[in-house]
Amino acid sequence: MMVETMEGHVLEEWAVARTDSEVPYYVNHSRGVTQWDHPEYVRIFEEIQSLNTVKFAAYRTACKLRRLQTRLKLQDVSLQSVATAFDSAGLRAGENSDLVEVKQVEEVVLKILRSAHKHRHSQAALATQLTINLLLNIYDLGRSGMVQVLGCKVLLVVLCGGRLQEKYRYLFNQVADHNNCCTRRRLASILRDLARIPELLSEQPSFGLSLVSAAVESCFKEVEGEVGITEEVLLDWLLQEPQTLVWWTTLYRLTAAELVCHDVKCGVCKQRPIIGLRYQCLHCLGYNQCQDCFLHARTSRGHKLSHPIQEYCHEELQYTHTENIHMGIGGGLRLVY
Ligand SMILES: [Zn+2]
Ligand SMILES: [Zn+2]
Repeated sequence: MMVETMEGHVLEEWAVARTDSEVPYYVNHSRGVTQWDHPEYVRIFEEIQSLNTVKFAAYRTACKLRRLQTRLKLQDVSLQSVATAFDSAGLRAGENSDLVEVKQVEEVVLKILRSAHKHRHSQAALATQLTINLLLNIYDLGRSGMVQVLGCKVLLVVLCGGRLQEKYRYLFNQVADHNNCCTRRRLASILRDLARIPELLSEQPSFGLSLVSAAVESCFKEVEGEVGITEEVLLDWLLQEPQTLVWWTTLYRLTAAELVCHDVKCGVCKQRPIIGLRYQCLHCLGYNQCQDCFLHARTSRGHKLSHPIQEYCHEELQYTHTENIHMGIGGGLRLVY
């Protein structure tokens, strides 16, 4: 198989090889180099390093994930196609704790990407190699050639397109028992698989595995003494944006606002209109910031970082007519430095 870049260039000096357990690796014959990572994956991660200038951990993690999602062509994948592909490969909820061969997961991922990129088979094939590369770096760093089904689902559910609530529901159904409840142990397993994603992006201090047990306890606080939680309890807890998962809701807002145009001027860089998320200071009169200036904690005039800020995901016109469409930072959105 050829080693290509996303722009369609063939990297002549590189070749794909496989271990005895069918794990792909990459060989550069002219330099005599062998590595687990696809050269294009290495390039994408170098690109992601540039996002370390973003000041707040939740936004930094979300920006990194958005970059990964688009580079790996997963943004157009539907949750339904992820669900169907796993089911038709026989990897249903009952099999979530099983270990499967990388080769089998690769077939599932290829099917998912082909359904989203119907006429671009070579792009789907490359995106599959890169997605498997990412998956192995998260869940099989030692390259045993076996990965747990639940981890594969978690990663694809986070990076595919679609509504957050539907993704939460899908994940709940993956860990619910015959009473339609989720135990502490199962909640912990899914939160661990989720936390491994920001860990790979070097965001473990804010969202890593060490926070999982406290998160499980905070979710079970409402149902003290119960063995498991219902879907409703889980969704209520998720709506309160638990610290461990704040990067995921931030990714969702960042994506939803990408093409939104606000007819106001940024107080720092003077850009008008503001495209993307818009930030309004609730202290300085008529003072707004664009997403880029806010994410880099730039200030101007008398504005201070300590001022209360409101984030707008949608155009002003829309939020004045509909409640809940704007997200205030004071109202549940926490900023993590
Ligand atoms: Zn600006
Ligand atoms: Zn201000």
